[in-house]
Amino acid sequence: MVQWIKRERNMRLSQLFTKTRKDTPTDETAKNAQLLIQAGFIHKEMAGIYAYMPLGKRVLDNITRIIREEMDKAGGQEVQMTVLQPKDIWEKTDRWDDEKVDNWFKTRLANGTELGVGLTHEEPIVDALKDYVSSYKDLPLLVYQVQSKFRNELRAKSGLLRGREFVMKDMYSFARSQKEHDEIYEKIAKVYAKVYDRLGIGDVTYRTYADGGIFTEKFSDEFQTVSEIGEDTIYIDKEKGVAINKEICTPGNLKKIGLNKEDLIEKRAVEVGNIFPLESKYSDALDLFYVDREGKRRSITMGCYGIGVSRLMGLLAEYFADERGLVWPQSIAPAEVYLARLGDDTKVVEAADELYGELSKKGIDVLYDDRDMRPGEKLADADLIGVPHRVVVSQKTVDVNKFEYKKRISKEAKLVNKNELIKILDSST
Ligand code: ATP
Ligand code: MG
Repeated sequence: MVQWIKRERNMRLSQLFTKTRKDTPTDETAKNAQLLIQAGFIHKEMAGIYAYMPLGKRVLDNITRIIREEMDKAGGQEVQMTVLQPKDIWEKTDRWDDEKVDNWFKTRLANGTELGVGLTHEEPIVDALKDYVSSYKDLPLLVYQVQSKFRNELRAKSGLLRGREFVMKDMYSFARSQKEHDEIYEKIAKVYAKVYDRLGIGDVTYRTYADGGIFTEKFSDEFQTVSEIGEDTIYIDKEKGVAINKEICTPGNLKKIGLNKEDLIEKRAVEVGNIFPLESKYSDALDLFYVDREGKRRSITMGCYGIGVSRLMGLLAEYFADERGLVWPQSIAPAEVYLARLGDDTKVVEAADELYGELSKKGIDVLYDDRDMRPGEKLADADLIGVPHRVVVSQKTVDVNKFEYKKRISKEAKLVNKNELIKILDSST
């Protein structure tokens, strides 16, 4: 039987090639990017375009893992579509022209053939499914991917919150009827709530009525996380646990939804995801149909479901940070324990090395600060990097045969013996 083995990825900071910086980068205005650059999580290539360094890649992967687990549980089948896009399928839905969609990046083959650089994937997914889906027996279907998207955003001043290259999870549903679609749509809305819960922002993330687009009377749903750094304004009904985007907050819409203006509070928010009923706009245009039990050709009702994976990373970084640096929720932290070895006395080195080995063997993710640096610098880095648990081994702790333990979020450290330490970490990692 194949067993799921936790990836061995403990790390000695003396071997990590990234370094923390003392000063905030001057060419960056967004706090999320400033912090992430300073702590060595991301590297800025240019405005709105960032590379992920080892610690950042861990966080991005952890967010992705949570999303993937929930999409799989909901029955999603993961694919990876291409970044390079043929022009003809986009012409069929009238989304190729720059007049229609103004943030395409486009490129050319050597022979001059125009190509699109993927900004979303409705058209290619529908086109691919034509090779596999034709009967009522093939449906319903949920297909998703986690991939980089490319958009020529006018303003890219919000760090990871608005990238020109960014990571998105996009899922597409295919149903045989409106009723079947509605059930899937509501199910995924619940799955989304679960994702934001697991990321630690469930209590401040609202399902928000938003514009459904030009081809439907219906609303779409955004998932908006309350935060001052958001570009959007939403009105929240705390009692009902829902919100409405300012863009569509008209007396008519409020009535349609059943909300009262007096019950609503205004907040800034970040759109961390959205789900859209697409009806059969794309499937019809690209000629994807199914044949029902009676042999009749029928339209396929679609939905699309996006989550901003890298935007979430930026939001979570900024949302939880304090004056000392990053504060990662355990579920997505780059490691579980920051083990700081202060000093290089043989006994201290031995005790720290031994603990590192033991924790690693237990499958606990450790960042081992074994660098030859001043204690103050190491503890400042521990705070900046923001791993949830900190353990210090020093002359002082070795003398009393103990370890110093502290949570990133608490101010007080305590001395514990090894059994106590392992118990604490076992129960919280
Ligand atoms: P926005 O309204 O923020 O421009 P959108 O409505 O165009 O986003 P979609 O195309 O539906 O967004 O993408 C799905 C999700 O991807 C969004 O909810 C958002 O979280 C994320 N996203 C969209 N654009 C960007 C971007 N430029 N950088 C980072 N994340 C993005
Ligand atoms: Mg939007």
